[in-house]
Amino acid sequence: MVWVRESEERERERERERERKEGPSLLALLSGSERRSRGRRQTGRAGLRKRARKRSGALFAEQSGTMLSGSSLIWIGALLLGLEASLTGASDFQHHGYEEMVRALFAVQSECPYITRIYSIGRSVEGRHLYVLEFTDNPGIHEALEPEFKYVGNMHGNEVLGRELLIYLAQFLCEEYRAGNERITRLIHDTRIHILPSMNPDGYEVAARQGPEFNGYLVGRGNAKEVDLNRNFPDLNALMYYYEKHNGQNHHLPLPDNWELQVEPETLAVIKWMQNYNFVLSANLHGGAVVANYPFDKSREPRIRGKTTYSATSDDKIFRKLAKTYSYAHSWMHKGWNCGDYFDEGITNGASWYSLSKGMQDFNYLHTNCFEITLELSCDKFPPATALASEWLANREALVSYMEQMHHGIKGMVYDENNNPISNAVISVAGVNHDITCGTDGDYFRLLLPGTYTVTASALGYLPFTSIVTVGPAEAVQLHFYLKVQPKGTNLNVKAYANKKGTSTAKIPPTNLGPR
Ligand SMILES: [Zn+2]
Repeated sequence: MVWVRESEERERERERERERKEGPSLLALLSGSERRSRGRRQTGRAGLRKRARKRSGALFAEQSGTMLSGSSLIWIGALLLGLEASLTGASDFQHHGYEEMVRALFAVQSECPYITRIYSIGRSVEGRHLYVLEFTDNPGIHEALEPEFKYVGNMHGNEVLGRELLIYLAQFLCEEYRAGNERITRLIHDTRIHILPSMNPDGYEVAARQGPEFNGYLVGRGNAKEVDLNRNFPDLNALMYYYEKHNGQNHHLPLPDNWELQVEPETLAVIKWMQNYNFVLSANLHGGAVVANYPFDKSREPRIRGKTTYSATSDDKIFRKLAKTYSYAHSWMHKGWNCGDYFDEGITNGASWYSLSKGMQDFNYLHTNCFEITLELSCDKFPPATALASEWLANREALVSYMEQMHHGIKGMVYDENNNPISNAVISVAGVNHDITCGTDGDYFRLLLPGTYTVTASALGYLPFTSIVTVGPAEAVQLHFYLKVQPKGTNLNVKAYANKKGTSTAKIPPTNLGPR
């Protein structure tokens, strides 16, 4: 909501103020290559560390070898070239309590001030900040056609690997950017990445007091009021399943009245965050299994005698591809047998595993433009610190590859006849019963697999326009729309959706205590 925008605005104002006083920074004046070589000089460290990083780099290439294409090999080569810096030296692989985590995030921010920003989306029940670290070439600003991405960790306070991995990822992005790694530089320049390492810092503190040896399922899972945050989002699935049968709205489903009063502060903060940024892609990091889980989490039918049912979204093929991107880039997730469970190719539809209501990933898909999957990353919810370095190596390529997925499909602008962007225009793809909308700048992002598609842009007061587009396997295809004002008296406009308020059932399902 407005408060985030205001803080962004204040931040930009401070930046302008600083520039007025000090002039543009030296780094800002350097060309890209100068900046890169300067970065390398600044980050050169002792030989011991370099050797350690080189070892880790070799392991990295070996482990991901199964799914490398020619271009991936070039990227990996680029990664190896940049492995010099050291925010993630071996000695840093330890658990981070709240204060250490905050220190680590601010350390990254001060190491990479021109491509990062830290902001808080709110506070936990016990008053801890929910800090987000943002990476992009112009922090604090949405640039048209640059997609927004988010990673959320530690939603269950006792599932701590995601929190650590996201801290290491932040350090890694900063180091590799400074070292001139082309793949990471490109990612940061073309994307706005938001990292929330801990959505449940209160639960973490409870779990951490038990220590890593305690492999409990429950202690610290919920927030300070012991509410499971992944059962705390408004339930939009019931409404969606009703609309599917009655040709109703298939996206941005409305929230129930007074929803703010029905959710925990952590959930409220995350929902407002989702409403303020036009996220395209996201992952929610958990533990207790090893699998990439995609929507829907909630079954269409109630569970019958222990049988579960696959609950597909209209974007099922894309979600399967997203989940496989992670599982195959992960060192062992794709192998399927993990923690005593078997998941073919290391992926699963949420509902076909076990049905879950009021979860975060279904909410992302039903209320926003964002496609989110849930990553289960370790059998042990609170692994010992000695396991963290190898877990990082097993996940590093997957964390980066997954982010790169947001650059597939189509993207573009929707303009009126005077080249003014139209915000909230609706983009529909024939055969896919899930529309997406433009952001406030009039830009849209539609994830699609390679193929030929019939795409329509429509907006209230304008004539809809349809284009046919072929999507390849590489970069997103740009497709812009110019809509003409609808002549008076005609009414062949935007799909007439029943604009009904959310009437989701308030019944609380029996608590399911699986990893998600
Ligand atoms: Zn979990």
